[in-house]
Amino acid sequence: MKIFVFAERDNALAELCSGARKLGERVEAIVIGTEDKPGITVDKIWLIPPQNGVMVEDYTDTIAALLQKETPDLLLVESTKRCKVIAGRVAAIIGASVITDVMEFTPGMEASRLVYGGVAVRKEKAAAATAIAMVGSGVLESCSGAASQGIVETIAFVEPGVRIKTISKEQKPKVCVDLPSAKRVVGVGRGIVKEEDLAMIRQLADAIGGEVGCTRPIAEAERWMPKETYVGVSGLMLAPEVYIALGISGQVQHTVGVNRSKVVIAINKDKNAPIFKQADYGIVGDLYKVVPAMINKLK
Ligand SMILES: Cc1cc2nc3c(=O)[nH]c(=O)nc-3n(C[C@H](O)[C@H](O)[C@H](O)COP(=O)(O)OP(=O)(O)OC[C@H]3O[C@@H](n4cnc5c(N)ncnc54)[C@H](O)[C@@H]3O)c2cc1C
Repeated sequence: MKIFVFAERDNALAELCSGARKLGERVEAIVIGTEDKPGITVDKIWLIPPQNGVMVEDYTDTIAALLQKETPDLLLVESTKRCKVIAGRVAAIIGASVITDVMEFTPGMEASRLVYGGVAVRKEKAAAATAIAMVGSGVLESCSGAASQGIVETIAFVEPGVRIKTISKEQKPKVCVDLPSAKRVVGVGRGIVKEEDLAMIRQLADAIGGEVGCTRPIAEAERWMPKETYVGVSGLMLAPEVYIALGISGQVQHTVGVNRSKVVIAINKDKNAPIFKQADYGIVGDLYKVVPAMINKLK
């Protein structure tokens, strides 16, 4: 099976290429800019020369032309907003469909994804010659081995019929954490009562050398943390060594994002909270007492 990979960010490209290696015999990356991509293992790089002032979405026609010529069995695409636009447009051009939020591939290349808000799993298989699948960070199992880039072939840029025009640009607050790469993550939920209490949560994360993530309500309802840091079916899929869930009830939409953690530790004042079903270790207690005690002990 021949798999093509496209991603916006270098670390996502490396991760998807590594995961693709476990799924197929041949892995080829589509790269815009320069072929110098650290840590990727592929048989070939299809290099698209960067075009001055062209937005990444406007490389769609170039990617579609390549797929029409090469007909890989699968195009794996990083699950970002912009990549979703590209995947959708490419699919429309080549007559394929896009399977989003893939959690797993079976050997027969069926893709599993959560539906109905995360309460059911649906298996989908592409009917077109090339399947297009969007895969989030931490979903595919990586393949070990030294990085090697294979041969590089430069392809011509295909001018899109209509280009995207940038009207204005605004600086967004930078999210400095790289949660998918963190080995230890402290997740915080509605168990905290005010934004200032996040300082205590960060102290715990610092004490274990970890990063802080959160549930969706903390990011989207309270807006106490950036959207990019919430974990779950509509956020990040993580696979850290340790995940500490603080004041998190454990709804499936959240836990699906951490169920590949090696160890889950839950602290919740409600002994019947569903998170305890998933936890390897649990403390039934008030996080406002337990967390300071943990920080003290760790110090
Ligand atoms: C389509 C859809 C997609 C969704 N996607 C996501 C997603 O990607 N990620 C996500 O996180 N959610 C998602 N949700 C929301 C999800 O269903 C839950 O509502 C959410 O995860 C609950 O967040 P929470 O655990 O912080 O809050 P709650 O469910 O309100 O739980 C708070 C917990 O804190 C405990 N607590 C309170 N005070 C303390 C204390 N002092 N000490 C200890 N424990 C305390 C309580 O006992 C409770 O268990 C989605 C929902 C839908 C419908």
